[in-house]
Amino acid sequence: MSFIQLQNIVKNFEIVNVLKGINLKIDFGEQCVIRGASGSGKSTLLYLLGGLDRATNGKILINGENIEEYNDEQLALYRNLKVGFVFQFHFLLPTMNCLDNILLKAQIGNHKIKPIKEQSIDLAKHLGVEHCLKKFPFELSGGEQQRINLIRALSLKPEILLCDEPTGNLDSENSKKVTELLKTLANEFKSTLIVVTHDERVASQFTRKILIQDGMILN
Ligand code: ADP
Ligand code: MG
Repeated sequence: MSFIQLQNIVKNFEIVNVLKGINLKIDFGEQCVIRGASGSGKSTLLYLLGGLDRATNGKILINGENIEEYNDEQLALYRNLKVGFVFQFHFLLPTMNCLDNILLKAQIGNHKIKPIKEQSIDLAKHLGVEHCLKKFPFELSGGEQQRINLIRALSLKPEILLCDEPTGNLDSENSKKVTELLKTLANEFKSTLIVVTHDERVASQFTRKILIQDGMILN
């Protein structure tokens, strides 16, 4: 059985049918890209995988458990424990400094803060953003914010790392570097990596490429 299994996932927004029966299997530790044109349903699919929204129909099995059957509390726990999300826009809370932003997930989930803080500071050093930890998000450049966002996503060592257009605002050289970084960190943290992008250059950095078009997987 695959770690992640999507069975006939349908998502409608009122009368608009955005995902039209998605079937997909992803193994534990796999690194893959979901590519497709703007509007094809990539973000919608990623939000469902991350438990941020619910499907209209179909099953999302994680380790054999259908998260579509979870109640709100179970789904919140799933998001907290299993998923790290790197959004297209950074969504750092403007009134907290970056370290507090990073530790928010641990605080919400009642985890022991000390080891997570140490891990985050180490990773910040590694990524060259240690000097940003006590600053507020607005004081950072876009690239720095994105690194902080990545440290936050990895803070609880998620089994699933979901990235929505993570290189959206970068030039091609930096885009390549960030994608490599995601792959390396996912490997180090033993996270299954799923990146969605409309950028063929990003897609070319992955062996497993999944193509979505008009809410359907083509391959
Ligand atoms: P992508 O990420 O591939 O650009 P999205 O998943 O964001 O595509 O959107 C796919 C389609 O679903 C688009 O036509 C978009 O307008 C529609 N859509 C997405 N979210 C909503 C929503 N909350 N309400 C209505 N339509 C939506
Ligand atoms: Mg999108």
